[in-house]
Amino acid sequence: MVEAQVELTVSDVRQFVYCPRIVYFRQCLGLHPAPTYKMVEGKLEHQRTEDLEHRRGLKAYGLSDGERVFNVRLSSERLGLAGILDMVIARRHEVIPVEFKNTEGHIRLNHKYQLVAYALLAEERWELPVRRCFVYAIPRKAAVEVPIAPGARRYTRRLLNAMRSLVAGQAVPKPTRQRGRCQECEYRRFCNDVW
Ligand code: SF4
Repeated sequence: MVEAQVELTVSDVRQFVYCPRIVYFRQCLGLHPAPTYKMVEGKLEHQRTEDLEHRRGLKAYGLSDGERVFNVRLSSERLGLAGILDMVIARRHEVIPVEFKNTEGHIRLNHKYQLVAYALLAEERWELPVRRCFVYAIPRKAAVEVPIAPGARRYTRRLLNAMRSLVAGQAVPKPTRQRGRCQECEYRRFCNDVW
């Protein structure tokens, strides 16, 4: 059972899978470093993709019908979770979250669970099943389908509980064992033990 007292975001889910320490910095210490050049560029690329997407059909998604909604603000009191989704394709019998990503198409684990978190939120909002999401790979201009399996939903709920335990405990977690991640981490200057 998820306790809903701590307000978590879908970004927290993505960051927690990347490295739990980031969520400690964000939620326990309130640290939010200024965006890097790469992040600012990524945001502009997102905006350009959205502008183009308004004019495109749904062919990239292999769909013949569906209503697109952009920058969808989602929240669930039950899950204690909120986030802003790049795009939703609402169809009669399903709703499909879409994230625009600056990737060639390989879906990292943290992005996968970000999508599952969006799926949980979108299901609650539309009261329709989410069986799949799409990542729109910006460099390739291609949509990659990501199935949403029951096990991934259960794991995402466990992640929410684990984040709440982390926030309640207020103890700094160990650094990620995949130290390559530290190289491009915006929180690196707060981690004195990873150099
Ligand atoms: S620098 Fe490494 S250990 Fe520190 S928060 Fe970033 S990924 Fe985690």
